[in-house]
Amino acid sequence: TKLRVGLLFGGRSGEHQVSISSARAIAKALSAEQNASKYEIIPFYIQEDGCWLGKEISQEVIESGIPHLEVQNLSPWRSLSQVTDVADVWFPILHGPNGEDGTIQGLLTLMQVPFVGSGVLGSAVGMDKIAMKMAFQQAGLPQVKYKALTRGQVWSNPCVFPKLCDEIESALGYPCFVKPANLGSSVGITKVRSRQELEAALDNAATYDRRLIVEAGVVAREVECAVLGNEQTKASIVGEITFDSDFYDYETKYTPGKADLLIPAPIPDAVSRQIQDMALQAFAAVDAAGLARIDFFFIEASGEVLINEINTLPGFTATSMYPQLWAYSGIPFAELVDRLIQLALERHSGNK
Ligand code: ATP
Ligand code: MG
Ligand code: MG
Ligand code: MG
Repeated sequence: TKLRVGLLFGGRSGEHQVSISSARAIAKALSAEQNASKYEIIPFYIQEDGCWLGKEISQEVIESGIPHLEVQNLSPWRSLSQVTDVADVWFPILHGPNGEDGTIQGLLTLMQVPFVGSGVLGSAVGMDKIAMKMAFQQAGLPQVKYKALTRGQVWSNPCVFPKLCDEIESALGYPCFVKPANLGSSVGITKVRSRQELEAALDNAATYDRRLIVEAGVVAREVECAVLGNEQTKASIVGEITFDSDFYDYETKYTPGKADLLIPAPIPDAVSRQIQDMALQAFAAVDAAGLARIDFFFIEASGEVLINEINTLPGFTATSMYPQLWAYSGIPFAELVDRLIQLALERHSGNK
């Protein structure tokens, strides 16, 4: 009998469309010759309002790649009660809040079912850029200077706000990057060069998240490394992203032709090894499991490598960095998906 894989995709986040694309690629890999006799796909599309849809419409969304919004007379929680016991293993391919942040992982943990990727702790710490940076700092991983703030500081006190901006200016200078703490795909991120831009960017980022972070901007090459495994982890070949835009924003990430992936990254071997080592340390520092993509800054002038962030559910289309890095490291896409499911089963049976 085939193993039923519950593919969870879509979701209530700014990365809804990205998740649909990732799910399409994974569904295709699960129906590829080598996996088709082993796995049966049970797709569950989570609408932008949080309601889960059944197999038929979910299948349609996978095939069309187009988001769907059906008015249901069910609360998100009620729509969930339809799904117990329909899958043997779950593959949440959701990016951002309510998917990559431990919430879905908590639900699956309560259901006592195996699932691909990090558990509650790894997902939550990996998603929140403030918690993540504290974990990295504790692990001794070098990173940019930053300042953590809350929406409350930005919005609810007009006397405090100018002081807050003064502090950011003197601690970090310009340019700096204003980010919602819990997001991805560069949604809500602004590169700012002046006081006026800083104020507007903070206000904008606060619309996305209660928790915000401002980081000192660095001039660096952007390199990424993929990690695979549970307790025993492996780091992939390192890749580089190049682009002409001001930074790696949403448009650059998702408009074909705007960014190039160079695999392997044309950097010295010693730097690659250092990055791989840091990637494994970062994975362990947040308690990730299964998979993660770790993003770095390589400052060529000084030879320094800074860790930028970890993504516990990285983009997973056929052209995404994570599967591409593994393909170049000797694990093709369909085999990668198979391995991730096996890692989920191992982790569940080992109760880790
Ligand atoms: P992902 O899609 O990888 O999850 P994200 O939304 O979590 O992205 P970051 O990786 O933190 O966002 O930042 C997005 C991009 O913004 C980086 O790839 C880089 O181009 C630019 N950037 C972010 N922080 C800095 C910084 N401190 N200095 C220079 N550039 C930065
Ligand atoms: Mg990220
Ligand atoms: Mg991300
Ligand atoms: Mg990133």
